[in-house]
Amino acid sequence: MFQCIGYAAQDAASPLAPFSFERRDTGPHDVHIEILYCGVCHSDLHQSRNDWSNSLYPMVPGHEIVGRVVGVGAQVTKLKAGDYAGVGCLVDSCRECAACTADLEQYCLNMPTPTYNGRERNGEALTFGGYSDQIVVDQRFVVKIPDTLDLKGAAPLLCAGITTYSPLKHWKVGLGQKVGVIGLGGLGHMGVKFAKALGAHVTMITTSPEKGRDALHLGADEVLVSRDADAMAKAAGSFDFLLNTIPVGHDMNPYLGLLKLDGAMAIVGALTPLDPVLGAHLIMGRKSIAGSAIGGLAETQEMIDFCAEHGILADIEMIAIADINAAYERMLKNDVKYRFVIDMASLKVAAAAA
Ligand code: NAP
Ligand code: ZN
Ligand code: ZN
Repeated sequence: MFQCIGYAAQDAASPLAPFSFERRDTGPHDVHIEILYCGVCHSDLHQSRNDWSNSLYPMVPGHEIVGRVVGVGAQVTKLKAGDYAGVGCLVDSCRECAACTADLEQYCLNMPTPTYNGRERNGEALTFGGYSDQIVVDQRFVVKIPDTLDLKGAAPLLCAGITTYSPLKHWKVGLGQKVGVIGLGGLGHMGVKFAKALGAHVTMITTSPEKGRDALHLGADEVLVSRDADAMAKAAGSFDFLLNTIPVGHDMNPYLGLLKLDGAMAIVGALTPLDPVLGAHLIMGRKSIAGSAIGGLAETQEMIDFCAEHGILADIEMIAIADINAAYERMLKNDVKYRFVIDMASLKVAAAAA
């Protein structure tokens, strides 16, 4: 075991603060990474505040991790010291079930091991995430970041990126389709970029007219303000696919009205209860509501390589780790453009001052 430093929540009510903890030594299949940047996902906020009633403390959040490989175990073939590497929401899974063997580790039938707010597969040690200086992860759960990708803008790809790329690919979004991305935050802004790169006509569906104007710079073809009843009525029946990133339970009925015959809406945001849906809104038009969770490791690498090929990165606002609690408050007010990323060099300064 060796000593690490990070920022942790000690319970649902206290702000995150400096924290020392131990990680395992690098095993034969492990990659040891010095963390350079870590994105701030809305899931970090949900879990540090126990919004999903499953939080384990102390909790070091962070699952949009990029860094430099500083050591590898004897059996590691995928990466070597000096490479840039990424770690997303998962650090392990059973590797044997039907989902794992189909490269869908996120749906592991024996529960995948989350990067934080979980326990290692021995059921004992807590996992600790990327708001920290170093991490040790089995090579299967590490992706390679090409040297051509800017690391700061690449960090959010590890969660916001794959969570939006995977459903767009699964529902075969492409040329000739009209796609709506609901909610312009970390996930939503990546959804716009991917849907556009895949060839779709993209509409940003937002509660904020001001943010909507920004969406055009992100590549959206149109903006639809969901609070504008007339505009929503005009857009009725016009979308093939909707990617819904709203982070809380909400009324889905107005959005279902936007779908065409056979249209589908994938929920990626709300893990908590959603308001009742009027059956007629699904039956009339043979519409579907589905869900989607992050992506498997092979697809995550595919998404990173797609970003390198198409020059896709997150639009980020860099923060110091000491600003994390203020960043959470801004996220709650939808005031993020469009992903906070922590510069981990600030961690040593914050830890020394604590
Ligand atoms: P975020 O950056 O805070 O963005 C969410 C956006 O949703 C907001 O900027 C806002 O956009 C819109 N919104 C917020 N509250 C709303 C409401 N009550 N009604 C309508 N729109 C609302 O969050 P994020 O990091 O993108 O994460 C979004 C959600 O996805 C979180 O719940 C997170 O836990 C979840 N998540 C799921 C997965 C998965 O695997 N499925 C992975 C990562 C994250 P506008 O201002 O444009 O309206
Ligand atoms: Zn996330
Ligand atoms: Zn499995």
